[in-house]
Amino acid sequence: MAGAAATEGFGAWGSRAGPSGHEDIVIIGAGAAGIAAARSVAAMGRPYTLLEASSRIGGRTVTDTRTFGVPFDMGAHWIHTPRLHPLSRFGKKAGFDIYRAPDELRLFINGREGSNSEYKAFEDAIDRAERAITAAGGAARDVPASDVLPKLGPWAGTAELAVGPLSCAKELNHVSTLDFSRSEEEDVDDFCRQGFGALIAHLAVPLSVQLDTQVTSVDLRGRNVVVETSGGTLRCGAVIIAVPPGILAEGRLRIVPELDARHRAAIAGISLGAYDHIAFLLPANPFDLKADELVFFRAGGRRGCALLGRIGGTDLHSIEVGGDVAEELAHSPADAEAFAREVIARECGRSVARRIAKIRATAWTREPFSLGAFSCAEPGAAHLRHVLAEPIDDRLFFAGEHTHEGLWGTVGGAWLSGERAAKQAVRAMAPKSSPPLV
Ligand SMILES: Cc1cc2nc3c(=O)[nH]c(=O)nc-3n(C[C@H](O)[C@H](O)[C@H](O)COP(=O)(O)OP(=O)(O)OC[C@H]3O[C@@H](n4cnc5c(N)ncnc54)[C@H](O)[C@@H]3O)c2cc1C
Repeated sequence: MAGAAATEGFGAWGSRAGPSGHEDIVIIGAGAAGIAAARSVAAMGRPYTLLEASSRIGGRTVTDTRTFGVPFDMGAHWIHTPRLHPLSRFGKKAGFDIYRAPDELRLFINGREGSNSEYKAFEDAIDRAERAITAAGGAARDVPASDVLPKLGPWAGTAELAVGPLSCAKELNHVSTLDFSRSEEEDVDDFCRQGFGALIAHLAVPLSVQLDTQVTSVDLRGRNVVVETSGGTLRCGAVIIAVPPGILAEGRLRIVPELDARHRAAIAGISLGAYDHIAFLLPANPFDLKADELVFFRAGGRRGCALLGRIGGTDLHSIEVGGDVAEELAHSPADAEAFAREVIARECGRSVARRIAKIRATAWTREPFSLGAFSCAEPGAAHLRHVLAEPIDDRLFFAGEHTHEGLWGTVGGAWLSGERAAKQAVRAMAPKSSPPLV
């Protein structure tokens, strides 16, 4: 058994596999969490093998530069709460243009900008909704966020959209008050002009990744961990599973023997919601926006959304949808396109909407290796999030944004979870006489 020698059915990978497969750490999933885990394992001087089911790295962080000729982040775009993780710092050090996101939002109502009093009423409604949810969670009540909302007046629909689907990727009746209250996210964000996906891909450059290798099962019954993949079988000492929870919940990656009831409940309860971008080029700045401004439209009885305008100072705009609307539009690119055109026509007029040349809509709930956008605990399940950070048999470790208690739903959380899992795995495999790892 050894790195390549410990595999059946694989050729030489050029992976950072060690001389003995038993010593190796196999990392499953090359999203932000898996990339961070592989970098950390390598930095601690241990061999690793990084397996990725799809034909690209990055998972839910990916920058497309071909469709529009400018960077379009199809997944994560905001570098949330840069104080708590190293990604902005890494980006600056590598020469990426990392800059602070505008901290004020814009408000439009049927083609006109909101008045000062409308801005104030909207922001007050958001603030009151967030405070009520946080207070309930802070008092250890884990109930649907929708149950604790005060009367929010005429801005209720738009404020609920901002706090629920556009922040948590779920309607508020599927958002746990406790999970919400534990979020460490701050109102400070950065952007990466070249794309957040480009930054994460850059951080994977030194790594060796085996693409197009879908892991179907991880078997813990023997002395070695046996990893079955679409390309053959691997044996290793420890495994880090850094795939989204739905992949495990749906049995697309099976763990043998079956996980205990707590882990199964955690995987089911910390589920991914729906959130998508419907991106397009819109010339001549019809909304009169500064670069990277986030625009809310009064939701009324309509299906709500927001607009991220003039991304990176370009003509690229993106309609942002979450929750039920995202779930519904993900079924049909044509419906997503019609939805975006309708919003622009309503707010700016049909002649402006006709200037939209090309539209690209994401559909993350339909991506077979993601099955959703980002996690938010279902009501009653928030206490299970930490279960996913606990090792199993000191040989199986979970990583991924869904395993991070404070920065869930973010790339920063995914990254930190990968570093944590790497430390756990390396520590577990260290000879018992080794000095403790810092
Ligand atoms: C539209 C959208 C907007 C978002 N906006 C933001 C934002 O602005 N800021 C922010 O911080 N976060 C945002 N997020 C969330 C962020 O993208 C995720 O939290 C983060 O990228 C998750 O990283 P991860 O490594 O945990 O999982 P993933 O990125 O999902 O990585 C998991 C990897 O595992 C692979 N995989 C799955 N199954 C298998 C298998 N069986 N075998 C081998 N490999 C497998 C997948 O292909 C994937 O590459 C957004 C997400 C979406 C979808």
